[in-house]
Amino acid sequence: MNKHEVVVVGGGLAGLTAALSLAHGGTDVLLIEKNEHCGGLMNTFWRDGFRFEGGARALVNAGLVTPLMKEFGLELDILPNPITLGIEDKLLVINGERSLHEYAQILKGLYKGIEHEVDGIIGAIRSVINDMKVLYGVDNPLFTKKKNNPLVLAPSMIAWTFKFFRTMIRISRMNTPFEQALDKLSNNQALKDIIGQHFFRNTPVFFALSYFALYNDYVYPKGGVGAFINALTDAITQRGGKIRCKTEVIRVEPEKKILTDDSGQEYRYNSMIWAGDLRNLYQITEGTVLTGNIKHQFLQQKDRVLAQKGAESVFSVFAAVDLPPEVFSAIATGHMFYTPDRAGLGELHTRRLKELLDRWDLVTRDELNSWLKDFCQYNTFEVSIPVLRDSEAAPQGQTGFIISALFDYELTERIREAGWYDEFKKQVELEFIAVLSRSIYPGLQDKILFSFSASPRSIFDMVKSAEGSIVGWSFEAEIPAVTSMFRMADSVKTVLPGVYTAGKWVYSPAGGPTAIMTGRIAAKRCQKELKKYKVL
Ligand SMILES: Cc1cc2nc3c(=O)[nH]c(=O)nc-3n(C[C@H](O)[C@H](O)[C@H](O)COP(=O)(O)OP(=O)(O)OC[C@H]3O[C@@H](n4cnc5c(N)ncnc54)[C@H](O)[C@@H]3O)c2cc1C
Repeated sequence: MNKHEVVVVGGGLAGLTAALSLAHGGTDVLLIEKNEHCGGLMNTFWRDGFRFEGGARALVNAGLVTPLMKEFGLELDILPNPITLGIEDKLLVINGERSLHEYAQILKGLYKGIEHEVDGIIGAIRSVINDMKVLYGVDNPLFTKKKNNPLVLAPSMIAWTFKFFRTMIRISRMNTPFEQALDKLSNNQALKDIIGQHFFRNTPVFFALSYFALYNDYVYPKGGVGAFINALTDAITQRGGKIRCKTEVIRVEPEKKILTDDSGQEYRYNSMIWAGDLRNLYQITEGTVLTGNIKHQFLQQKDRVLAQKGAESVFSVFAAVDLPPEVFSAIATGHMFYTPDRAGLGELHTRRLKELLDRWDLVTRDELNSWLKDFCQYNTFEVSIPVLRDSEAAPQGQTGFIISALFDYELTERIREAGWYDEFKKQVELEFIAVLSRSIYPGLQDKILFSFSASPRSIFDMVKSAEGSIVGWSFEAEIPAVTSMFRMADSVKTVLPGVYTAGKWVYSPAGGPTAIMTGRIAAKRCQKELKKYKVL
């Protein structure tokens, strides 16, 4: 049987951060990943000479990525990732907070007669951004080369901690869904849709409204997001950490401290970090021997976790285009949030979708296709063109596109069960491309070399993420995870002896930055536990 001081399950950003922190500290660590490569929802792949991001289109620095790279000496060229916001033919390249004024002018031009409502919303965004600056704008002291020297660390740590707590108090008062906050500022549904329809339903207001500041915080590693993942995996193995891919953990026996993989191989550990889907952990721990109070607490937590769902997922269309990058760079930057129609989604993604699902057996394909057409026409898309940030991402004179929008997992599942999943995926590809051809990129659809897509179900299949969620729990129900920044350090704890958790399911709202933070915190907990164990 294999035996390691720490076993990390799941090689996404959280698991990799944890494994690297442990290996760097000299801990004997094994990372187990079910896929052929690590990265999870941060990955880059090639198709016929075109490079695409399968998950996040760029990295949000959030005061974490750069310090992490510095601490572990990761050598990576980081390229700029300018973001364009677009509505119909109005395009704005975001250049810090000063762009808020121009954004307001665009909105006032599109929604005449409600200029004061636009001012109210922009004022709210400005105020939240000021509150969030301490989180996004300052290097997080969790990663610093000089952390062992208290004299060097202390001044920045004290300043950061002070600002952090002030911010935390204000943020904890802004946990209401952003829709409610916008309702207080405007009666115009289209305006509210344009501001918020690319956020998950009921996203906390502080998170949604501060996103404007995050646009300038995106960076793009040369070689794509996957280059960052490769740098992490190399750094783990260089420090003696072990990585075992194509291996799925299917059973956890916490009292024996044993894991079993899909080939029957067993692994003994002192501590374990679970950085995969949290529901999966509770499902596969079922049936193993747990006793007394631990059993009681475990079952309680299990009920809470299994009762909840993931947030909306994403539908991504990948397309290779027989046009040179200059055609597209003349229009917008290589990473854009674009809404082709100022009318907004209205009830298409809420009441209308629910209606369709409620009478599913009576819904015809024509009806669904008509809903899909409207859904695409009025939606907001994230458009990523890797070659506009890194010239090596596509063959000479050609361009690769990734076009995505939030998408409902249940709808995809119903279509799959009805047996027309592949056809539906093709239809979505055509619609996504057609809507951009009718608006920002005329003629795009005539120059497509090939296209393919990934549905919410593909995300589930790839990383086992419940409901194909990319950011953990839905904000529409009770969240069975830590939601207060004051308690982030507790997010990695479980009732199971020696078992910690990390990643998008353990803290909400989640994403790349929280995956890094929770991975790091979980590693620290394991190191502390190991020290105690060694003293004994
Ligand atoms: C299209 C898209 C756009 C995004 N955009 C952004 C963005 O702009 N900003 C942002 O912050 N975030 C963004 N995200 C979200 C971000 O990528 C994720 O939240 C983050 O990467 C999650 O990391 P993780 O380690 O928690 O989980 P994951 O990346 O899901 O990693 C979990 C890993 O565990 C493995 N695993 C699961 N179960 C097992 C098992 N039983 N045994 C072994 N291995 C297992 C999986 O295969 C996977 O590799 C985006 C995601 C997508 C898909």
